[in-house]
Amino acid sequence: MIARVTLELALRKEFDYLVPSELDGQVQVGSRVQVPFGPRKMLGCVTALAEESAQGRLKPILKVIGKETLVTPKVLRLARWLGEYYGCAPETALKSVLPEAVRRERANWRERLFVMALAPVGEMPRLSARQKAVLEIIQARRESPLVELLELASTTAATVRHLEDKGLVRIAAQVAERDPYAHETILPTQPLPLNVAQSAALAAVVADIDTGEHVFLLHGVTGSGKTEVYLQAMAHALEQGKGAIVLVPEISLTPQTVERFKARFSSGPLKTLVAVLHSHLSAGERHDEWHKIRQGRARIAIGARSAVFAPVDPLGLIVVDEEHEQTYKQEEAPRYHARDVAVVRGQMEGATVVLGSATPSMESFYNCKRGKYRLLQLPERADDKKMPLVRVVDMRQALRKDQGIPVFSPQLTEAIAQRLERREQVILFLNRRGYATSMQCPRCGYVAGCPNCSVSLTYHRQEQKLCCHICGHVEAAPVACPNPNCQSPQIRYAGLGTEKVEHVLSKLFPHARIKRMDSDALKRKDDFRRILNDFRAGRLDVLLGTQMIAKGLHFPNVTLVGIIYADLALHQPDFRAGERTFQLLTQVAGRAGRGEIEGEVFVQAFTPSHPAIQFARRHDFEGFYEQELEFRQPLKYPPFNRIVLLTLKGRNEEKVKFWSEHVRRELEGLLGSFKDAIVAGPAPAPLLRAETYYRYQIMVRVQRMMAFSQGLAGVLGSIVLPEDITLVVDVDPVGMGF
Ligand code: ADP
Ligand code: ZN
Ligand code: ZN
Repeated sequence: MIARVTLELALRKEFDYLVPSELDGQVQVGSRVQVPFGPRKMLGCVTALAEESAQGRLKPILKVIGKETLVTPKVLRLARWLGEYYGCAPETALKSVLPEAVRRERANWRERLFVMALAPVGEMPRLSARQKAVLEIIQARRESPLVELLELASTTAATVRHLEDKGLVRIAAQVAERDPYAHETILPTQPLPLNVAQSAALAAVVADIDTGEHVFLLHGVTGSGKTEVYLQAMAHALEQGKGAIVLVPEISLTPQTVERFKARFSSGPLKTLVAVLHSHLSAGERHDEWHKIRQGRARIAIGARSAVFAPVDPLGLIVVDEEHEQTYKQEEAPRYHARDVAVVRGQMEGATVVLGSATPSMESFYNCKRGKYRLLQLPERADDKKMPLVRVVDMRQALRKDQGIPVFSPQLTEAIAQRLERREQVILFLNRRGYATSMQCPRCGYVAGCPNCSVSLTYHRQEQKLCCHICGHVEAAPVACPNPNCQSPQIRYAGLGTEKVEHVLSKLFPHARIKRMDSDALKRKDDFRRILNDFRAGRLDVLLGTQMIAKGLHFPNVTLVGIIYADLALHQPDFRAGERTFQLLTQVAGRAGRGEIEGEVFVQAFTPSHPAIQFARRHDFEGFYEQELEFRQPLKYPPFNRIVLLTLKGRNEEKVKFWSEHVRRELEGLLGSFKDAIVAGPAPAPLLRAETYYRYQIMVRVQRMMAFSQGLAGVLGSIVLPEDITLVVDVDPVGMGF
């Protein structure tokens, strides 16, 4: 027997090995094996078994690692698709389907010492008062980890050992699972009676789980009860003996979200563990969560992007909540989009896929319009709350001759004052941190720029620093113009960030309790939770922040949301700028009026008539969608075509440019066989220089991306670039190179 093995090297190649007779039956597709490779021993994964090999003189597999195969043939197939579509080496693809912690050679269960009370045999030995007290604690708990017990009973290990010597307790090592949520108690919840729209959506999904054919897009405004539909659909999958995966954006993967899912399945006939996978788990926790799923003890996996590879088997349902979120795209190889992987995996495994959003991506909505996905709609809030009233403020009219542009328009200022008076709460949103976005000298024209990137430095007032938000470069803010021939003390700061908003706000409302929430303001790990708790408990009046506060937060007493600068993201050189702005405005606006009192939203903008702002004001997704399609149609941007972005990077700009042109020429033949392909570039990336690297881009828009990707891999495989030039291939990119 021959085993084909993918090694953990980026070699884009598989190797054949002999299965020695003593390992017969143990080596399967998906097995982890140790093999000789040159002078070394390496780990790899068996991707196929065969009777014969075209390679001569095979070496034998040295050993099989672990009792169970880690990768099922299904997951292997998905990894193969990933490699081909996103143009990465098979081992890179395989790495993303198997977490690092699971791939390690040694089984990684943590052993801990546990103390158990034993039934006393014969006469009770004499004990000191101290020993008696400790024994009672052990007996009351029957079994507990030694470290916990020592703390609880404020005693030493020696005391417990004495009890062991007397035959009263036993100390033994046990495998302990690391459960990051172990300390939380969860109250079970029951399914809610659904409203008409929810019932219709659920019925369609449930019917499909039995057959496993289509993809659904669940379009429902914030608070329309999408989560309840997911929960009941998952229950149905469990009844059918199938499991489910729920993907949520990392930022929404809060303990509250996780708890909602755990609570529903924590008791009753459908009881199952819910495994959680996200990037903040320790390697050990990740290992344990993964195996809980692999062993079938957890039938439900919930997590961010990478949870799409969770080894749930058989798989009945994949939910992708907030499917429009950019964070589903992985920004390093393999550059996969978890939503798209979910759709492909669903097809491969006959599982139903439900994509949910209040503001679906253009791609998914278009797929509904052309019959590829089925559209389910929840047009109203389940809790009968009204949508907030959105007012757009034209900031051009707020401009005053003497003082320039104010941070707050008179309308928003008045609305805040009113809320403070009524003891209601306010959320203010600006997606840019720092105090000012640039530092200039009006006398000589000097602008403080980053030495590594083609951007100006942001001024942070409290720390008196200039910072680059791309590469992290930091320098002290100068007191005078750094130009040696000028040294004028009249430095001017322009552009607005959250720190300045906070500063101006506290001057306008000196008695208001204000808290800023951005990555500068959060110093410690629990700051995020603490500030939100304070806000919820009414200990704060105004919460001001970046996109950290844009989604998922429910505060019943928030009746006003102010968006300080709505056009901020609108004028970026990215064809999705309008779509992003629409989504962001809709999300932020959704934070207002979650309670009894109706909400109001003020959107401050310099281009108030822009469609993204106007359609968001009217809560009109379809209207926005129609006009956005019209804009994208002539240029064949997605959803009409797909994009692959080739970026060449290097420290020498001339060289980067030269090799970009070379790559472009080499693509000629391939492009010839794709008549619909549109090529742009090579051209400098919108942000030409980042982290000391110059970047040039070639963008190809084409309809049949899988075929193009395969052709592209062939072409790129034959190009040898100099060592100091790197080429990044990004299929279906979500960012255009900032
Ligand atoms: P979404 O996921 O669409 O934002 P949620 O599922 O979080 O909406 O629902 C919003 C609120 O409405 C929640 O408090 C939820 O408990 C409640 N809710 C959902 N469905 C119903 C229903 N059928 N009847 C009553 N309340 C519901
Ligand atoms: Zn100057
Ligand atoms: Zn920089």
